[in-house]
Amino acid sequence: MARVLVIGAGGVSSVAVKKMGMNENIFSDIMIASRTKSKADKIASEMNHANLCTAQVNADNVSELIALFRDFKPELVVNLALPYQDLTVMDACLEYGTSYLDTANYEPLNEAKYQYSWQWAYKERFESAGLTAILGCGFDPGVTGVYTAYAAKRYFDEIHYLDIVDCNAGNHHKAFATNFNPEINIREITQRGKYFENGEWKETEPLSVHRPLNYPEIGERESYLLYHEELESLVKNFPTIKRARFWMTFGEEYLTHLRVIQNIGMARIDPVLYNNVEIVPIQFLKAVLPDPGSLGENYTGQTSIGCRIKGVKDGKELNYYIYNNCSHEEAYRETGAQAVSYTTGVPAMIGAKLFLTGIWKKPGVWNVEEFDPDPFMKELNIQGLPWHEIFNTNLEL
Ligand code: NDP
Repeated sequence: MARVLVIGAGGVSSVAVKKMGMNENIFSDIMIASRTKSKADKIASEMNHANLCTAQVNADNVSELIALFRDFKPELVVNLALPYQDLTVMDACLEYGTSYLDTANYEPLNEAKYQYSWQWAYKERFESAGLTAILGCGFDPGVTGVYTAYAAKRYFDEIHYLDIVDCNAGNHHKAFATNFNPEINIREITQRGKYFENGEWKETEPLSVHRPLNYPEIGERESYLLYHEELESLVKNFPTIKRARFWMTFGEEYLTHLRVIQNIGMARIDPVLYNNVEIVPIQFLKAVLPDPGSLGENYTGQTSIGCRIKGVKDGKELNYYIYNNCSHEEAYRETGAQAVSYTTGVPAMIGAKLFLTGIWKKPGVWNVEEFDPDPFMKELNIQGLPWHEIFNTNLEL
């Protein structure tokens, strides 16, 4: 029995809250608080939970958050707004005295440069307050970190090579749309590529390194090397890693649209003056693109996200691939959302559940791979994201 406050009412929040509703014995009291209250109300109206309420909050404002926390008295705040709000929400959690969980690391609004240092800097304060902060508990980051921890615990003496592979082979039947918040998505993809090798970070031109990779039940898809936030924590937490990379699939059509958006300046994150009003082009673009939360209805196909790992066990080389495939149609049938929101919202709920049952509870600020992976892996199978393992296969990487 616990009181949980979820911030944000987008695609990920709608899945996480609905899955909390399906685990009502743990999540006995839920509040959804977001900038636009009507979106929180819509999620609530699609559920049948005895103790569910909604509120309006600007999560950029610490005192507004604290007032809300005093009113609702949450044991855990699940931050499913945008990465820009991470620090204000963490500040409010510390000031009021409650624990914290999110799915994306902090990024300043005026600079597309996400890194964990800002949130790791809260470690001692959370520790001395006896509060837990769980960072990056979606799929990637999130499940990919748990998969790595599970592989390290169960199968490897040393992990040497880690490739995280993220394929969306779905079709939403729109000319161009992003699967989660367009501003965050486009900022992530258009930045320079980066990977870790032999103790150093190496940079590449955006989307310049790519190759075809085969995904289970899907087949071959062109996959692009990107920088992704979990690489930063995984190479720190598994120091035997010699190389860590992240690959994501994109279709030709998507990349052409992206190129045009960039070339005409619509991906700019700095304000421009339009009719004497300052607008940020990428924020304007978000307003005209399809809402990711609305893509589910006609989405077909599936996602496939996993870790391809090489290392040694008892002096012998081992290749290991662990992955989940998630169907857009099935995700929609269960929660009214497409698989990208589903694969993020379900792990957020699982992390919250493990915290609330005391299994993933330890004062400080932690990435998911720093907890015991076993209970999380068990929950993935129960809550709709079953995983599969392949040993000593051709990892292609
Ligand atoms: P959406 O844009 O659909 O939803 C974000 C929600 O946050 C909206 O309801 C928005 O309000 C609300 N919000 C934004 N700013 C504020 C604010 N200042 N105060 C209160 N509420 C605010 O995003 P998604 O649901 O797609 O993504 C949610 C999070 O999940 C993001 O941080 C994203 O990066 C992360 N993510 C993580 C993944 C992973 O695997 N780890 C994968 C996909 C996403 P409004 O409705 O008014 O705009």
